[in-house]
Amino acid sequence: MKIPFNKPAMVGNELEYIQDTVNRGQLSGNGFYTKQCHAFFESRYGFPSVFLTTSGTDALEMAALLLDLNPGDEIILPSFAFVSTANAFALRGAQLRFADSESRTPNLDAHSIESLITEKTRAIVLIHYGGVACDMDAILSIARKHSLVLIEDAAQAIDACYQNKPLGSLGHMAAFSFHETKNVISGEGGLLVINDVSLVERAELIWEKGTNRAAFFRGEIGKYEWMDLGSSFLASELTAAYLYGQLEHIDRIQNKRLNIWNWYQERLQHLGDKGHIGLPFIPDYAQHNGHIFYILCSDLTERNALLCHLRERGIRAIFHYLSLHKSPYFKLKHDERELPNADRFMDCLIRLPMYYEMTESEVDFITKAIFEFYRKQ
Ligand SMILES: *Cc1c(COP(=O)(O)O)cnc(C)c1O
Repeated sequence: MKIPFNKPAMVGNELEYIQDTVNRGQLSGNGFYTKQCHAFFESRYGFPSVFLTTSGTDALEMAALLLDLNPGDEIILPSFAFVSTANAFALRGAQLRFADSESRTPNLDAHSIESLITEKTRAIVLIHYGGVACDMDAILSIARKHSLVLIEDAAQAIDACYQNKPLGSLGHMAAFSFHETKNVISGEGGLLVINDVSLVERAELIWEKGTNRAAFFRGEIGKYEWMDLGSSFLASELTAAYLYGQLEHIDRIQNKRLNIWNWYQERLQHLGDKGHIGLPFIPDYAQHNGHIFYILCSDLTERNALLCHLRERGIRAIFHYLSLHKSPYFKLKHDERELPNADRFMDCLIRLPMYYEMTESEVDFITKAIFEFYRKQ
């Protein structure tokens, strides 16, 4: 048996909608299917304003532009993070201050934030890792106390909640991704959510290359002009068409992923109870979306040996982020602080295969291989 880490799936009318896009005669962005996708997110999650982008990275870069950073402004973000989460703000000249993860989850540790706040701090950026909510009450109260902008990197967090409130609705802005490895996909694709309505007007300009082209096509103005900085952030209608085909079946996708997640959890519980591996911790406030199932080994050597053992059996399991404060690009810019939890997730975490079409017997095969590894230990 060969089990890949990820397999992009088709779940509904994706191909028909792409054909329909061609028939409608508009392939560029902000057409019929973009509007369908926008309406879906606004009605299902109550987001005040959304912008479909070519990637989650682009949504983060739009958020960074909307911050209007001045030289020397600082951003606080977790070190156990995707490169785009940091890059978006570094590209605008921000100074990055990396914070640690919680000990029980890879999410930003609220306790590690306040000591990093200075007069120059402008924003906190967090990631809901694996679609498991961060400790939002604690983080929101710090952001409010210090008048900081809060940006949710919700790339992995579609349809997940914090105390039954949708992730992506809690910060001033949020970014989602529809990369083929996420729950709901369009190949590449993303969404910027604007919850702070004072930012909506500028967001629309930035989305359309810094022009008021969108207002022009709504017939609100007679010509469109260069109004602000911007770039080509809007997604093609082809992307939107595929995405809409998936969004229509989001409940089926989420149920399936949660089933797979639970199959793993039930089968591996015993190894967790015996202390061989760590299993995901889901805080009471989090309703997750089955995006990632990970296990934690005791150290790097054991982690690499287990990855090898699985690979020999045709199973593609993989590690995840490398702590950004230790990256070749950043390590000389980082102050001396140790971030032990970020390093532990870097060294010990394994993501197990997870995709829509996965079967229970594939999960059996994978978990048996893991049991076999720990019997040999
Ligand atoms: C996937 C991901 C992104 C980037 O999304 P793309 O659509 O691939 O650009 C950003 N942040 C996190 C946490 C992600 O998982």
